[in-house]
Amino acid sequence: MTSGSAPGSPPSQGSQRKRGSTKDSVGLYAVQCCECYKWRMISTKEEFETVRENFTENPWFCNRRPGCSCQNPADIEYDSSRIWVIDKPNIPKPPPETERLVIMRGDYSKMDTYYVMPNGKRARCAGDVEKFLEANPEYKNRISASDFSFAPPKVVEATVSHNSAWKAAKAKKQEKADALSAQK
Ligand SMILES: [Zn+2]
Repeated sequence: MTSGSAPGSPPSQGSQRKRGSTKDSVGLYAVQCCECYKWRMISTKEEFETVRENFTENPWFCNRRPGCSCQNPADIEYDSSRIWVIDKPNIPKPPPETERLVIMRGDYSKMDTYYVMPNGKRARCAGDVEKFLEANPEYKNRISASDFSFAPPKVVEATVSHNSAWKAAKAKKQEKADALSAQK
């Protein structure tokens, strides 16, 4: 249900498809039912972005999935068998021709959010979006700076604390802090 392209829009239909999309660090999506608190898997990123967009106004219940109810066992357990990151609710859907990616840092300390813009470049902060719109004013009628949210999902420490990369990074940080205090 996208509206037709506005007059004067660049011939982006062809390049839109080819734009190099990097995969982000999320392997699967899940949502928690607001009634029974069970976790249900969401099959696509697009669907997840739709659920997330209006989460406060339109919270998720098991019966939103056809054939599912709160009686059904959970799809997935919230435990440390995998690393969990928790997203903020109400993040706007990425504007057309952009993609929102969240990338885990190598030491699992946090995630970084960025957008792949229609020209294939990455925007890492609101300033980058402003710059893009300045340089490409033809997008101003379709893309608004307020459609972007760089709020990263929060890494759940209890689900990552047994990870060796995370432990090594934490130990290193502690070493550094100790060295600094020893210098004083
Ligand atoms: Zn439920």
